[in-house]
Amino acid sequence: MPDDLQQLGEFGVIELFSQAAKPAGSRVVLGIGDDCAVWRVSEAEYLLVTTDMLVERVHFLREYITPRQLGRKTLMVNLSDIAAMGGQPTAAFLAMGLTADLKSEYLTEFRDGLLECALEYNVDLLGGDTVAAQADMVFCLTVLGVTNPDQLVTRAGARPGDRIMLAGFVGDSAAGLHLILSKSAKRLEHGYQKLIRAHLEPQAQVALGRLLASKKLVSAMIDVSDGVEQDLAHICRASAVGADIQADSLPLSKQACQLAKSAGIDPLDWGLSGGEDFVLLFCCAEDKEDQIKNCCLTELGTQVFTIGTITEDKKIRVNSQGVWLDRAAKGYDHFPGSLA
Ligand code: ADP
Ligand code: MG
Repeated sequence: MPDDLQQLGEFGVIELFSQAAKPAGSRVVLGIGDDCAVWRVSEAEYLLVTTDMLVERVHFLREYITPRQLGRKTLMVNLSDIAAMGGQPTAAFLAMGLTADLKSEYLTEFRDGLLECALEYNVDLLGGDTVAAQADMVFCLTVLGVTNPDQLVTRAGARPGDRIMLAGFVGDSAAGLHLILSKSAKRLEHGYQKLIRAHLEPQAQVALGRLLASKKLVSAMIDVSDGVEQDLAHICRASAVGADIQADSLPLSKQACQLAKSAGIDPLDWGLSGGEDFVLLFCCAEDKEDQIKNCCLTELGTQVFTIGTITEDKKIRVNSQGVWLDRAAKGYDHFPGSLA
């Protein structure tokens, strides 16, 4: 076994726990490995539970995100995992590690952002924990949600021939982060504000996840938090399938493409490996493709894009203009350099 975190990688670390944890509870439907854990409340209801943490200097820089935006984002990234299972979020628990220099105004702004978002999504804040942190702030949220057992959507369930679809643009968040970090004057240009907002103010697609799940239109789903390639790889692993991605069909915004061009970056890198777009990525039988596109557009005004096909052989391949690209799969890993 690799003897340090760099070698294990983030997913190696998770495996270290998932291999040893053998859930014994008879009500456990799903443990470690999907966007939420799933617990049977009754024959008519499943409880969904997810937890996600934002750490200063790892996930955010204090000087580039307002406390109000940070409060919203802390909740949004968790709601996105409930959305990925087709669930309805219900309650939240907030654990915070706070540095002594924080002003109370910072906290009230954070609180207002979080509660404003909670109100919009009908989520109640029901508890949490508050401790001191030495140098960096930490915000960790646990969110509960519910779903109907027959409407549960997991990462497993994709079948060869299924279409792979994305419910929005990818790469905007990575482009926004690039703008913020580059400190270039471009970040003040009106056209690029959308990219910065995508990074600082992501939207969880809860209504879309509910719609797809309640109409039983999708075979597998995940939210794109670590990049399309990496998150699609989670679906493929859970479903024991592979995938062919058509890079030319990837929904990249014209602003992201324009910025990438001016920075000498391949926009595909942002689209395929950029994280934190929090759009839903899902698979469906070929004959459901048009119905999904129509109902997402008419019922929610959301455009859905087909980006590829699920295959039998367990590889992810990326094609552009008829040529298979030689891409080392990238995506966000908290401990990069892993052997995994
Ligand atoms: P997501 O990006 O959807 O939030 P992650 O990649 O963070 O999912 O986690 C993948 C899976 O591993 C999830 O089921 C999560 O609950 C689980 N997981 C992550 N870290 C731990 C841990 N320290 N102990 C147990 N399970 C974990
Ligand atoms: Mg997720």
